Amino acid sequence: MTSSGLERIERDVVVVGAGPAGSTAARGIASAGRDVLLLDRAKFPRDKPCGGGVTIRCAELLPFDISPVVEHTVTGAEVRLGHLGRRVQREYDGVLTYMTQRRRLDHFLVERAQEAGAEFRDGVPVARVRKLPDSTFEVATRDQVIHARALVGADGANGIVANSLGFARPPEAAVALEGNIACPGGPPAWTQGRVVLQLGVMPGGYAWVFPKGDHINVGVGGWKAIAGPRLRPALERVCRDYGLDSSQLTNLRGHHLPIGRPGAPLTVGGAALVGDAGALLDPLSGEGIYAAIASGTAVAPAIEDYLAGRVQSLIGYELTVAREIVRDAAASKALMDIFHAWPDPWVWLLQHSERFWTRFCEVVRGDDGYDHLVHSFGPLILALGPMARAGRAWTSRQWGDER
Ligand SMILES: Cc1cc2nc3c(=O)[nH]c(=O)nc-3n(C[C@H](O)[C@H](O)[C@H](O)COP(=O)(O)OP(=O)(O)OC[C@H]3O[C@@H](n4cnc5c(N)ncnc54)[C@H](O)[C@@H]3O)c2cc1C
Repeated sequence: MTSSGLERIERDVVVVGAGPAGSTAARGIASAGRDVLLLDRAKFPRDKPCGGGVTIRCAELLPFDISPVVEHTVTGAEVRLGHLGRRVQREYDGVLTYMTQRRRLDHFLVERAQEAGAEFRDGVPVARVRKLPDSTFEVATRDQVIHARALVGADGANGIVANSLGFARPPEAAVALEGNIACPGGPPAWTQGRVVLQLGVMPGGYAWVFPKGDHINVGVGGWKAIAGPRLRPALERVCRDYGLDSSQLTNLRGHHLPIGRPGAPLTVGGAALVGDAGALLDPLSGEGIYAAIASGTAVAPAIEDYLAGRVQSLIGYELTVAREIVRDAAASKALMDIFHAWPDPWVWLLQHSERFWTRFCEVVRGDDGYDHLVHSFGPLILALGPMARAGRAWTSRQWGDER
């Protein structure tokens, strides 16, 4: 018992947050035979604001099949420019993305962690996190204090672990709002097998329609500062564009997408941040489940080395993230700024260049990275930085003036 009457327990590792990052980390750590406690404040199965798109590169990170929670398979895209502008449809000869619901996906991933030996407790908010002078950690919940040698912060954007351990806040954030429209007979034909994306409707973001089992998911996202107050009207307008009745939207939810600074610290001693807690998502696409699962996978062996005394910190994990997971984040961010300022040439390229479409699909599939995509523009690579800065200034002026 502690002096405040809380029960005191010991574990090798505590993982705070049971989204894809936390459950993946807990599964890996438990598989190595460690005593790991996975905590989440929500009662599972729980929902999370998210389109639920799992790219094939992401699904392939997992050592098991996620088909029990896949509701639709995407092999193509429809891209629209603005509200009434050009419309391009493209097909790929392989799978690009699996459509899931986070409520089901995250529960499924937690079950795999439990099978590996992780102890899972839901409905348990972590109230306090402290690094002790002997470099171990104390994690306080409502009725327990857990003492652990290593700690994983998988508690999403603006999580308590990063805040308590003094990590800097990500310099930027996007925001998104999404909801579902029921389609009891299955998603409408125009969404089947494809993601529908609408560009130029939000500063620094886009709108989407994703097909699921018995509904479609409709969302809009963009830079927090400018897009925030516009999300609701933008979502209604997008619904009108597709002939959807926005009053039928259910489960309307908004959330932050933290955009990190490449090279920002992710570890302190035996504590590490994974997934959104480390702001690892891809700035251009907003895809975050990949980085969550990739970082959760990468942190486990680093923690095992640390607990076994082979290393004195988790810096090896940080290097793996920089080298393998967010290696082309700078290119992604630059492309984001250019792409959102001037979407027209991109849509034109998508429509007319087989090579560009194939490259784009290879990036989505993980066969290629943004760096290669950028290099395919030849000497234009030298102009990437200045174009990105000009793009951002242009978008801010354009949308700022409208307010
Ligand atoms: C509207 C929207 C649409 C998106 N669409 C996509 C998409 O289609 N595909 C894609 O790849 N990415 C998408 N993303 C990004 C994706 O949702 C995130 O990157 C992903 O959820 C990150 O996973 P995570 O495990 O790091 O964090 P999360 O999934 O956020 O999980 C964090 C967990 O921590 C728990 N937690 C928080 N604080 C505490 C606490 N104090 N104590 C205990 N538990 C706590 C929470 O309850 C939560 O379960 C989208 C994001 C948004 C906002």
